[in-house]
Amino acid sequence: MAYVINEDCIACGSCIDECPVEAIKEGDIYVIDPEICTDCGTCVDACPTEAIHPA
Ligand code: SF4
Repeated sequence: MAYVINEDCIACGSCIDECPVEAIKEGDIYVIDPEICTDCGTCVDACPTEAIHPA
């Protein structure tokens, strides 16, 4: 399992430095690599648009 970022992402970058394993990649909408994500949930609270959810 991994967390996913949905279309509510505004690409603000708030989450990217919170991830301890650097699983989040920049883009028009940010993406979490499910192969890297450890399901820790740290990024969820960093998102101002609540775009990050468990898959
Ligand atoms: Fe990174 Fe944890 Fe968010 Fe997965 S849940 S992307 S490991 S901060």
